[in-house]
Amino acid sequence: MKPINPEMDYYRQFQLKNYNSFKTEALAKIFCQPNTIEELRQCLKDHSNEKKLVIGSGCNLFFTKDFDGLVIHPDIKGVRLISDEEEEDEDIFIEVNASEDWDEFVAYCVERGFVGLENLSLIPGTVGAAPIQNIGAYGAEVKDVIREVVAVDMETGETISFSNAECEFAYRNSIFKRTEKYLVISVVFHLKRTFVYTPKYFDLNKELEEIAEPTIQDVRDAVIRIRQRKLPDEKVLPNAGSFFKNPYITQKQTDKILIKYPDLPAYLQKDGLIKTSAAFLIDKSGYKGKRIGDIGTYPNQPLIIVNYGSTDGNDIIRFMKEVQHAVKGTFDVELEPEVRIF
Ligand SMILES: Cc1cc2nc3c(=O)[nH]c(=O)nc-3n(C[C@H](O)[C@H](O)[C@H](O)COP(=O)(O)OP(=O)(O)OC[C@H]3O[C@@H](n4cnc5c(N)ncnc54)[C@H](O)[C@@H]3O)c2cc1C
Repeated sequence: MKPINPEMDYYRQFQLKNYNSFKTEALAKIFCQPNTIEELRQCLKDHSNEKKLVIGSGCNLFFTKDFDGLVIHPDIKGVRLISDEEEEDEDIFIEVNASEDWDEFVAYCVERGFVGLENLSLIPGTVGAAPIQNIGAYGAEVKDVIREVVAVDMETGETISFSNAECEFAYRNSIFKRTEKYLVISVVFHLKRTFVYTPKYFDLNKELEEIAEPTIQDVRDAVIRIRQRKLPDEKVLPNAGSFFKNPYITQKQTDKILIKYPDLPAYLQKDGLIKTSAAFLIDKSGYKGKRIGDIGTYPNQPLIIVNYGSTDGNDIIRFMKEVQHAVKGTFDVELEPEVRIF
């Protein structure tokens, strides 16, 4: 059988340094960039026995060794407004292909007054990656506006639609992250037209306190200002955002920590566990702004590990282990990485 697109190149021993925002070096045994779903299926068929990894813009992953398999970097773009924009329906449905830039899509929605994504402004990455770890910021999570995720099963090539419930979304998790079996090709969002600002997040409320009735554009602008003040630009100082997940601890552990640190952020969850702040624990363990060789934590936000010049992901691992060890020693709490390590 002839390939659908004889021009679709497979690159061998392909350098991945520019495909991860930590800028670690690693070679992919095979690399391809399908532009259509047909090309993607062909690519999967041609390499059915290979281990597979999907990369969007690489803002949430890094490498410690070469990848012995097929790296797929989809380049499948397009936005389809399912609802009629002219009609003033309250509910808006939009299908967006995986390789669209996340923040450009958020800007597109905010400009049109489509409500629901504004708190998730300026998160780097692609639309296809958003459901993978259920991206979240400033009191919002993408799961709250996803109606459906369309994905290809990388083993069978079959296209499957996942309803919101079938995505099994959780804090920085989903069925896609757990199984690594599906390549997301598009996401259907359910947005609204009516906007009422609900104060949910301290920093954001503070940023908006001068505005009596914030619009969604005000919220987006405020989120962008806060993020630009607090977070490093990964294109200037390589990093992958929050390195660790915020841990869930027991009431007993919380009480013990509160004796010495009464300002510990602690949020009671429905299951009785307490969600606390990894940044706080790292800071109080002496790792805020600490640098060892080329790796360190960002001075303004200790949850972000930054790379000052290494090309070896193992340097990041060594630093990560030091931070985990320090937090475990100080608080008896285990920090789990949010970033994907390959
Ligand atoms: C400065 C900075 C700030 C950040 N802030 C936040 C934040 O506030 N909140 C937050 O949640 N995250 C944040 N992140 C993390 C990151 O931006 C998100 O996880 C984003 O969704 C990653 O998109 P990506 O396209 O770069 O994904 P990648 O890094 O390429 O991939 C991430 C994971 O998703 C998988 N994947 C990617 N695309 C697909 C696809 N189409 N189908 C199947 N699997 C796929 C990959 O295999 C990998 O496991 C931040 C990162 C940086 C650098």
